[in-house]
Amino acid sequence: MNLSFDNTEVAFAHKSNRDLKKAYRLFQTFNYPFLVNNGPKLANLALSLRLPIKGIIKNTLFAQFCGGESISESYISARQLHENGIGAILDYSVEGEGTEEDFILSYAELQKVIHEAANKPEYPIAVFKCTAIANFKMLEECTEAIRASKEVSFSENIKYNEFNTRMKGLCQLAYKNNVKLLVDAEETWIQDAIDEITYEYMALYNKDTAVVYNTIQLYRKGRIADMQKRIETARQRGYKMAFKLVRGAYMEKESERARDWGYDNPIQDSKQDTDDDYDAAIKLCFDNRDVVSICAGTHNEKSSLILAKLLKNSDIEKNDDRFWFAQLYGMSDHISYNLAASGYNVAKYLPYGPIREVLPYLSRRAQENSSVKGQAGRELSLIQSELKRRKLDI
Ligand SMILES: Cc1cc2nc3c(=O)[nH]c(=O)nc-3n(C[C@H](O)[C@H](O)[C@H](O)COP(=O)(O)OP(=O)(O)OC[C@H]3O[C@@H](n4cnc5c(N)ncnc54)[C@H](O)[C@@H]3O)c2cc1C
Repeated sequence: MNLSFDNTEVAFAHKSNRDLKKAYRLFQTFNYPFLVNNGPKLANLALSLRLPIKGIIKNTLFAQFCGGESISESYISARQLHENGIGAILDYSVEGEGTEEDFILSYAELQKVIHEAANKPEYPIAVFKCTAIANFKMLEECTEAIRASKEVSFSENIKYNEFNTRMKGLCQLAYKNNVKLLVDAEETWIQDAIDEITYEYMALYNKDTAVVYNTIQLYRKGRIADMQKRIETARQRGYKMAFKLVRGAYMEKESERARDWGYDNPIQDSKQDTDDDYDAAIKLCFDNRDVVSICAGTHNEKSSLILAKLLKNSDIEKNDDRFWFAQLYGMSDHISYNLAASGYNVAKYLPYGPIREVLPYLSRRAQENSSVKGQAGRELSLIQSELKRRKLDI
């Protein structure tokens, strides 16, 4: 089958007429800034007041973007994806207060996620955020120390040791169970500490195959040079380099902090620069496929097509395990389902957690799909095309 992201029939084949109409109505509400900006806050308040709105959220926003409130509840969505040739990446989306108790709970939950991936074909990959298991301030201090090339002894830092123990626990568990483990990227002022430890465990556990993946945000300046350096190190030291490639999710926050603190903005000067570096990163990884594996986490059609074409015109299979595409559940199904139907490796982040705890995640998805952030219409027009193709009234 020829790959086309315009094929809404393939993209929405898994959705009944009723579900498609429901999705249309939901994406339409994202065009109302008041609802997007205040909806999740009001929902939180209503839940605190024990107003009976849980069912409404669960049936609408939550159903569109999340798998369930628990791993077991998410399995239905994972199975539906699997039936369409798409993997699910269980994404524990609870954003805790950052207490030691939260870290212990998250660590236990993430171990469960890796076990699920080890035992069920529906979950080819696992993922986590370091801030779910580590103190933000500690990561910030470590990043400052790394940048200042200070001779700090991390081993004297109790919080760092706890983080290291959990990090090692997760990477080792993934290694023993042959599960790909993605480490999400976060704010630049904590990222060096995340990079440092992730590359350390990559050297340890990626000896034969890619297990631990570090995330590269191509909206940052200078990432290509950094990747080149990392690839060379891996080649010299004899392990596999594995990257998740994303553009980056904290652009406004990054620019604001740089302005407030008076340092150079780490973000590229334009969207075009980000796009150029993203596509250059794909090419760099493809050219170094003797040692590099990637997961291309993007909703960008052009970048997805670039990787798809490289694979199609190469000497390796389209579904070579070194190359994966990934999108978020409830978004860009036209990319995921069409790639899968054409025989590529595709997985979707499947967020889960108790409704109240995933509200911040849902709020970000609503923002992203709203006119406020200029993304409005992308999903909506695809759903509209499919409704038209099915000759359905809205
Ligand atoms: C599976 C998956 C995993 C992800 N994991 C992470 C992660 O670990 N860490 C993380 O930070 N994000 C992550 N993201 C989010 C990602 O970084 C993007 O925010 C999001 O996917 C939108 O980018 P895009 O590639 O889909 O395409 P597009 O919609 O084409 O690009 C939008 C992105 O371009 C960049 N951009 C926009 N305007 C400008 C500008 N003026 N100058 C410079 N750059 C600009 C921003 O990064 C913006 O998010 C993930 C996304 C997916 C799909």
